[in-house]
This record gives sequence, C-alpha cells and structure tokens, in this order.
Amino acid sequence: MIRKITLEENEIPDKWYNIIADMPNKPLPPLNPGTLEPIGPEALAPLFPMELIKQEVSPEKWIDIPDEVRNIYSMWRPTPLFRAYNFEKALDTPAKIYYKYEGVSPTGSHKPNTAVAQAYYNKQEGVKKITTETGAGQWGSALSFACQHFGIDCEVFMVKLSYEHKPYRKVMMNTWGAKVHPSPSNATEVGKKILSQDPNTTGSLGIAISEAIEVAASDEHTKYALGSVLNHVKLHQTIVGQEALKQMEKAGDLPDIVIAPFGGGSNFSGLAFPFLRLNLEEGKSIRCIASEPSSCPKLTRGIFRYDFGDTVGMTPLLPMYTLGHDFVPAPIHAGGLRYHGAGVIVSQLLKDKIIEAKSHDNLEVFSAGVKFAKAEGIVPAPEATHGIATAIHEAEICKKEGKSKTILINLCGHGNYDMKAYEDYFEGKIVKHELSDEEIKSSLDKLQTPTIP
Ligand SMILES: *Cc1c(COP(=O)(O)O)cnc(C)c1O
Repeated sequence: MIRKITLEENEIPDKWYNIIADMPNKPLPPLNPGTLEPIGPEALAPLFPMELIKQEVSPEKWIDIPDEVRNIYSMWRPTPLFRAYNFEKALDTPAKIYYKYEGVSPTGSHKPNTAVAQAYYNKQEGVKKITTETGAGQWGSALSFACQHFGIDCEVFMVKLSYEHKPYRKVMMNTWGAKVHPSPSNATEVGKKILSQDPNTTGSLGIAISEAIEVAASDEHTKYALGSVLNHVKLHQTIVGQEALKQMEKAGDLPDIVIAPFGGGSNFSGLAFPFLRLNLEEGKSIRCIASEPSSCPKLTRGIFRYDFGDTVGMTPLLPMYTLGHDFVPAPIHAGGLRYHGAGVIVSQLLKDKIIEAKSHDNLEVFSAGVKFAKAEGIVPAPEATHGIATAIHEAEICKKEGKSKTILINLCGHGNYDMKAYEDYFEGKIVKHELSDEEIKSSLDKLQTPTIP
C-alpha cells in the first residue's frame, strides 16, 4: 500500500505545456475596447515584460523553463501526490481518490509556480517594482516571496474583505518586504472614486486589479502581474499536472476524472491541461471538472461573451465566461474564487465541451473540507474545498453504481491561515447563499461589450 508518491528533484519538468497548440478551436483574440479591433501583443507592453507577452500569444507546444526558475522550484518541488485511502474509507466509496498537494510551497498554495517565473522575467528586463491585486492573500504572498528573491519591490492591493478577515496573510507579505493596501484604497484615482461612491464596499478582485494596473501604467519601471486568468499564468502552472501525470504512472494508475477548484483557472489548468493533452493527442477520455462556488458561478451560469478583466474597464476585452465585470460576489470565504470571469483558454474549452464545470454552495464545501481534514489530516484552503466537494459527488455516484473510478483532485493549498473561515463555519455563521437568476441577469444586462455568436 503506497500512500505518498514522490519524484526526485531531477524529475521536475523542464518545459511548460502550452495547450493552445492542441486546441481544436483556438481562443478568439483580445479586442481593443475603443476600436473593437484585435489587439497585438505590443498593447500589453506597458504592463508586462516582453518574454511573458510572447508566452501569452505563443503557438509553441512546449516552452523551456529557465534553469534559475527550476532551481527555485526545487525549494519545494516536486510536490507529493497522495492516495487518499482514509478519505475513500470515510466516504465508503469504491472510487480511488488521489490528490496532488501544492500546499507544501513556502506560501501554502500553487501560486508561487507562476510568481517565481513572472518575477524572473521581470528581473531579466530590468523591472524595479511589480504591482498586483490579491483576493484571499495567496497570490499576494506568492508574488511577495518571488519578488524579494529577485530584489524587486512589490506593492499589493488586497480586497478589503480579505484584508480584514486574514490579517496574517498581510503580515506574511510584509515579512517578505511587500507593501499592502486594503482595496479600494486612497492610493489610486480608481480607489478614491469607488470609495466616494460606496465607502463601505468590501471590494472585489476586479477593483483591486484596476488599482494595481493604474499604478503600473503610470511608471515606466513598474510592471503589473496577475496570478490567474492569463494564458502565461496557466502555462506556468502546467508543472503541476506534468508531475502528477508521472506520479500517476508510477502508481500504475491513470485518472478517469480530474477535478480542481476554479477561480480564474490557473490551478485547474495546471493540473488538467497535461491530462487533457492525452485526450487531444491520443484520444483518451479523461473528464476534467472545474469546481466553482454557487455564489460566483461564471462557468455554470455566466455567459460566453467579450468582457473586461477588471471592474473599471482598463484591460482589453477578453472572450470569456463572465458574470459581468462589475459583478461583486457576496462576501464568501473562498476569496480566491470571487472573480467575475474565467480565463480565455478555459472558457473556449468549456464552450467546446472539452471540459466540464460544477458549482457547490458555501455550506457544502465547508462540510467537504472538514470531512477531508478529518480523514487526511490536511486542512484544505476554502478554495480547495470546492474540488473536494466535486470529488465527493463523483465518489457517491461510484458508490451508487457500484463502479470504481480513479479520481484526481488538485489540493491546491492548505487553509492554515483560514481558521476564521472554519471558525465561522463551526459557529453556524456561514449561510447557504444562492444567486437568483434576476441578480445574474441584472449584472449581465449592463454589459455593452461585443457578443460572440
Ligand atoms: C488563488 C487560489 C485559487 C483560485 O485561483 P485559480 O486561478 O482558479 O487557481 C484556488 N485555490 C487556492 C489555494 C488559491 O490560492
């Protein structure tokens, strides 16, 4: 009985996998919001270093991971893959459940996989400061860690709700030398404007993105970094699925179902794309399911349309599943999953029915998280509990049908800084929150962006 499947340091993959090369329908181009013409990579140059822009639009299937990045990865990679024997037993299911555990990184989630790569390319191009937004604080921590490694200043706009709920995430960022603002803040014009309209707003990722972009766009030595959604971010995360594929092979197994929680798509893509490659290249039929909160259900209830990536409308228009760019989700604890849109690649894959999506309510996910923690020991990040809830759903189907299937989950982070969320759950303060059709419709009705036939 092997519980923990590990790899050697020299088995850290040396290339990232770019699924665009294998997609039957390539993603539609981003549009200039003024002219509605497709924009070229040069439009992104004020915000991102050239090498990342090249990756954003690259048609190449495999992209080399620089030695220096792999070297930093080896501080915590390869990450372990576990067979969840105890969890299987607790669920009394014939299903075999595995999880890839990204919580062993210095910041406790998958996010340093891209933060390190992004900081590296910024450093190569002489950037002095990077701004960013953070929802739950995971991305802000990861970028702070990566920036200090390369001697780059880091300024983080943290969604106010999380800033108040998760003070230790802020201290963690400060420890690595970053400056952190609650967003909306008085440090930007965008922030001041939103505060004047709604002084009590709990903030949103869309607003925080607008603030971070404003700061980066106004200084030539400052760039901006995003922790999810964009193609290059998903690309960097494919290190996770490539390792997991090797580990599953080592275990003599291959998943029938791959499951990951979904915010903007980076951890889902990271685990799922290397398995989808087997579907696209070899005709395998591994089901890949993205799990989202029912209070921010862009994949299951949003529409596929051009929309802005931020609230104010500073980004190019992106073809994606969206709830509308000024949608402010109810204040749920899974801060990392409160984004109004889905990344472009994942959106196209969902449109083409190459992947699936499933939503879960707030109570269901905490119940799933606690069940998992009791069986496997690790307290999952509130985001990660969504994937666990989907896995339980699939394991129950296996039980009902008396069939065994192999399920692989991305346990993309631990919840050790999320005790407030668990405390609220135990105290009965977490309520089931469902969005009405009217709420979704009223957000979508406001959209004036181009539709997609
Ligand atoms: C940020 C985060 C997510 C959601 O973001 P994705 O881009 O969808 O990966 C999920 N889980 C954890 C632990 C996170 O930190």
